[in-house]
Amino acid sequence: MPFTLLEIQEALQSSGDAQTALFTKADQVRAQKVGNAVHLRGLLEISSYCAQNCFYCGLRREHTLLARYRIPPEEIIHLAKEAIQQGFKTIVLQAGEDVWFSAEKVAHIISEIKKSKVAVTLSLGERPREDFQCWKAAGADRYLLRLETSSPDLYAQLHPGQSWHNRVRCLEDLKELGYEVGSGFIIGLPGQSLELLAQDLKWLVDFGVDMAGLGPFIPHPQTPLGTYPSGNLDLALKAIATTRLILPDINLPATTALDALSPNGRWQALQAGANVLMPNLTPMAYQQRYNIYPDHHEACSNLSFKAEHAFKERLTALGRFISTDLGGHKKA
Ligand code: SAH
Repeated sequence: MPFTLLEIQEALQSSGDAQTALFTKADQVRAQKVGNAVHLRGLLEISSYCAQNCFYCGLRREHTLLARYRIPPEEIIHLAKEAIQQGFKTIVLQAGEDVWFSAEKVAHIISEIKKSKVAVTLSLGERPREDFQCWKAAGADRYLLRLETSSPDLYAQLHPGQSWHNRVRCLEDLKELGYEVGSGFIIGLPGQSLELLAQDLKWLVDFGVDMAGLGPFIPHPQTPLGTYPSGNLDLALKAIATTRLILPDINLPATTALDALSPNGRWQALQAGANVLMPNLTPMAYQQRYNIYPDHHEACSNLSFKAEHAFKERLTALGRFISTDLGGHKKA
């Protein structure tokens, strides 16, 4: 059913009983449209080098105190194969914008991983169309590139030297090339009004995303936005729930940043419309140096296999189960 901008904004403004009703409705729509399966995506953070200087991100190039790393391609392939053996059906390769990972190097990694029957998701930032094309030919299935804000003005303020239009161009290229496209926004980004957040969510519908990543803003002290307040947990949950209503059949992750605000953040999201989790499989020695935002506790990273049993029990208690298929976007 089509939603107006005003209705989206009203949902984002709801509180008390109306907020509870929004979460309940989103949970029902999730169950009806994408079922009770929870898809696990194994995340590998393959490089913390970044050419960009986004005002909110700890990987920004002017954060010169950060000790950077790149995981060597053969090690990435090895880590991916371990994850596949553990049962992961999707491997996500994420990094700062790092041209050391040339089209050819990434294509090699993709084709090695695709020797197993799994999906490969890339989240490597803005690249030329030819790179996206090369990676699609190598077998990549999905690409995550958040638009961060649907306002070209706010985008320009927070991303020096980058262009909102180029980011949209990348998203359009990815869609044309046949990727399942994930995009999304930071909730509570300084300068984002509720009206703008409603426009952000509307943009997801207008573009036709297959997946939407929506997580709260977490200030990183070594960035220009380090002294701004965190995004609000309830608002982030309401944004996820509203997105489930306006785009009923897409994949919606319970994003890691939610857990930086509350140990139960992701679980609340799973009960308010979300159907995807992205356990971080990056080895700890690297992961500690991939700090997009400060990590407040362990819970959001390794879903270690020691913890797996407890995790499955918790899911079962919610009437949910871990998916055994690739979990692509099944358009209703
Ligand atoms: N270089 C890749 C991956 C970026 S990191 C790209 O450009 O897509 C993944 C996401 O983390 C970003 O898209 C952004 O939405 C989010 N992020 C970065 N800094 C953040 C912060 N301080 N708080 C919350 N989310 C943040």
